[in-house]
Amino acid sequence: MGAAWQIIRGGQVLDIDARHVGPADILIAGDTIHEIGAPGLAAPESAVEIDATDRLVMPGLVNAHTHGHGSLGKGLGDKWSLELLLNAAPWTSGGFTLEDKRLAAQLNAAEMVLKGCTAAYDMYFEFPTASTDGVQAIVEGYRDLGLRVTLAPMMADITLFRAIPGLLDALPDPLRHRAEAMATAPSEQHIAVCREILEGWAFDRDTARPALGPTIPLHCTDAFLTACRDLAAEHDTGIQMHLAESKVQAVAAQTRYGKTLAAHLDSLGILGPSFTGAHCVWLDDEDLRRMADQGASVAHNPGSNLRLGSGIARARAMREHGIPVGIGSDGSGSSDNQNMFEALRLAAFVSRTQRAQPEEWLGTWEVLDMATQGGARVLGLEDRIGRIAPDYKADLVFLDLTHVNYVPLNDAANQIVNCEDSSAVDSVMIGGRMVLQGGAFTDFDFDALRAKVAESVARLAERNADKHDVAEMMARYVSSHCVGLACHGS
Ligand SMILES: [Zn+2]
Repeated sequence: MGAAWQIIRGGQVLDIDARHVGPADILIAGDTIHEIGAPGLAAPESAVEIDATDRLVMPGLVNAHTHGHGSLGKGLGDKWSLELLLNAAPWTSGGFTLEDKRLAAQLNAAEMVLKGCTAAYDMYFEFPTASTDGVQAIVEGYRDLGLRVTLAPMMADITLFRAIPGLLDALPDPLRHRAEAMATAPSEQHIAVCREILEGWAFDRDTARPALGPTIPLHCTDAFLTACRDLAAEHDTGIQMHLAESKVQAVAAQTRYGKTLAAHLDSLGILGPSFTGAHCVWLDDEDLRRMADQGASVAHNPGSNLRLGSGIARARAMREHGIPVGIGSDGSGSSDNQNMFEALRLAAFVSRTQRAQPEEWLGTWEVLDMATQGGARVLGLEDRIGRIAPDYKADLVFLDLTHVNYVPLNDAANQIVNCEDSSAVDSVMIGGRMVLQGGAFTDFDFDALRAKVAESVARLAERNADKHDVAEMMARYVSSHCVGLACHGS
């Protein structure tokens, strides 16, 4: 039996490579784009026709950095720096049951689909370690929505309080004792469970790929990092880490390693084509050269970086060095949404604060490229997703050109970047299957999810109440110590 055929007719197609929007038909065989041609393109008689009149068809957006567990934590914080966010993590992300893990993944995936995203790199946190059943539930959560995912268990073998030089000593006695008693799982335990996960990976790697996520260099011993490096090489998987996200981390690296974070990772042999640094706000020129030389990529998260006051990553300079750059939303605990249209617009806008010459700003076609093919490269799927081209997966977003965002329709590409807020997303196809049609999920009950999420967060709030209170007590000391550290390093 041959593949099922579908033909999309009557739409305007966004061709990012050609920097062109124009009428075209798209013939799909099974989950893959077969041919793109002028209106009236020949199709097999059996092909199911999809009417795309008044629709702009674009490649699905690819989120290069998110955290599925964070979906339950949107809106919890206000004036949080990264370190305050990490201080709050035990109550915002702790105590998840297996069902909570699945729900959070479903919620994250649902928001991405609703907002035109079809694939994501998720650093998902389970405490104290990842687990085989947890990973199974998380991947199934994504698959329930049809979203492609590269899933990296987020791990640390050093606590926040030990990772930041001087922080323990900055706490008053009772709090210091509490902080000293906090523990992570040891390196060997993380590695053992990750090995089990990788060896048992039963999902099709086009739809769900495994990766490793030792979270932050300072939060990981060198022995743990090199063990992750070796395990990733053994199983041909990616590694994603938060790299030089905050100034505190950049300053602490000098104290701890006597060199930059990127130089330290390079000396351990971690940087390479399957490595992605998320954020990379505080990299110097030498670091950028290092990343480029090793073929490493970057996940640029401008919304999160603004939200947490982390700074602005030098995406233009990264691209000048030849570093592949994708765009991410970051987790909803820090951004607080999964809106890739917002993320790509912010990527364009923040670049304009860094260079005086408008021709050096990130423009429409560049950010569209970063949010599609750039992300695909980060996920390790650059030969399969991110483009509307033959042999690429049929991951497509249909924007409603009658929506106010496109009235009048002056320049569709500029309007995607400068006007679109995801409210004109009409339909989303992933692997040839419509997962969202006319704004509604085709095969997922969002109302049921909403009810279960409400129950979960109520239970988690009760369960994590003590952790909330401890984090609140710690917050002012964490904040003042970290601010002092960052100022001292300037
Ligand atoms: Zn992150």
